Amino acid sequence: MQPKVTAVKGFRDVLPAEARHRRRILDAVERVLESYGYAEIELPLLERGELFSRSVGVTSDIVEKEMYAFEDRDGTLVALRPEGTASVVRAYLEAGLSRSEPVARLYYQGPMFRRERPQKGRYRQFTQIGAELLGREDPEADAETLCLVEDLCRAAGIGKVTIEVNSLGDAICRPRYRDLLAAFGRALGTRLCEDCRSRLDRNPLRILDCKNDACRAATADAPLMMDHLCEPCRRHNDRVIELTTAAGVALGENRRMVRGLDYYCRTAFEISAGGLGAQAAVGGGGRYDGLVAELGGPETPGIGFAFGLERMVMAAESAAAGAITEGEGAATGPDFFIAPISETAAATALAIARRLRGVSRVVELGASDRKLKAQLKLADRAGAHWVVILGDDELARGRAGVRDLRRRRDYADCVDLAAAGSEIVGAVEGKSKGEA
Ligand code: AMP
Repeated sequence: MQPKVTAVKGFRDVLPAEARHRRRILDAVERVLESYGYAEIELPLLERGELFSRSVGVTSDIVEKEMYAFEDRDGTLVALRPEGTASVVRAYLEAGLSRSEPVARLYYQGPMFRRERPQKGRYRQFTQIGAELLGREDPEADAETLCLVEDLCRAAGIGKVTIEVNSLGDAICRPRYRDLLAAFGRALGTRLCEDCRSRLDRNPLRILDCKNDACRAATADAPLMMDHLCEPCRRHNDRVIELTTAAGVALGENRRMVRGLDYYCRTAFEISAGGLGAQAAVGGGGRYDGLVAELGGPETPGIGFAFGLERMVMAAESAAAGAITEGEGAATGPDFFIAPISETAAATALAIARRLRGVSRVVELGASDRKLKAQLKLADRAGAHWVVILGDDELARGRAGVRDLRRRRDYADCVDLAAAGSEIVGAVEGKSKGEA
């Protein structure tokens, strides 16, 4: 035997049972997004590398260590997108939406790529569903976004979630706080890990979310952005909390949350769910008022978030205690299995299958070179409701019988082989109803 080719590390297949579950979650999430006025945008997987270095930031882990970036054959530096916000903003500017649609609500879904260390819930290709609201800087927009986040979690059936918020300040108060924190960090010397020490010059905020226990202990009483907000940022934050709480959405505060991406300002949030083990974050987002200008557009505020679909599926499964109930994740099996038992019957089987599919019935076709017994076994395994057996006798009579696998009954000659799909369905369903 030839050696097998396996998938690339961190890249996984989504098999049908999981794909069904993902589709169900995506459908539910998309309905909520549309009910909030968001419209879908489809974006390319490959972008210019500079899009991410100028937005996510050169000092972020994503750009520094995790991006699949390479030179294209013509020398252009390109990257597989590690996230969606930068692409949405690029597209918004490229299509001139900043002029025609000063307030835009856009959502996207699809694969993202980050070369992280793979583990359960963390992959190198994963799927995000995200939304961006561009052109609104008022705290009401933040509050509505947080309501959307909660409604979306509920619709996805991912169980109890915790939404934690923080404020990351703005271009006025953050640089001041950054210097303060960097000075605090420098005074700690080697109590900080090597990674954190190197962060002090480039991105000192990151010392607050280092996973290293010694760093956590050393920074336990570090100054926090929340205590150093400028007056407009403080007012913004207070109003967001007030409005969101009034809307009945419970928020937790996490004053050490910094988010890994450079572009966030003011409101930042993270959503965690149960059943996810070490990777408890199911989604995250925040405000990014400087990003559009950073990418060459007019000063335009924005706020958005992204959820990881793989983690939503894990959380939903854990919320349902592993029980995928009928009609949700479970396969329901085809309505009809048509078993042709001669070569001539195969053509008729094909034609009838298409007529039935034309009236929205799910039909699986057997192969005429298989014995009837083998075909019936397949029908059973697929969970088919009705089996139609087609042989030369049936073709000669122009009629075939139906076996109801759920009730274990046979109905002789109830299918007229020349009839329309709807007539066949009517005759078969009529028989079953008559028996019920
Ligand atoms: P981020 O863009 O880093 O804020 O991530 C938003 C969400 O995407 C996270 O909360 C996760 O649910 C998901 N996510 C991020 N990175 C990964 C990954 N490597 N594997 C699976 N899901 C991920």
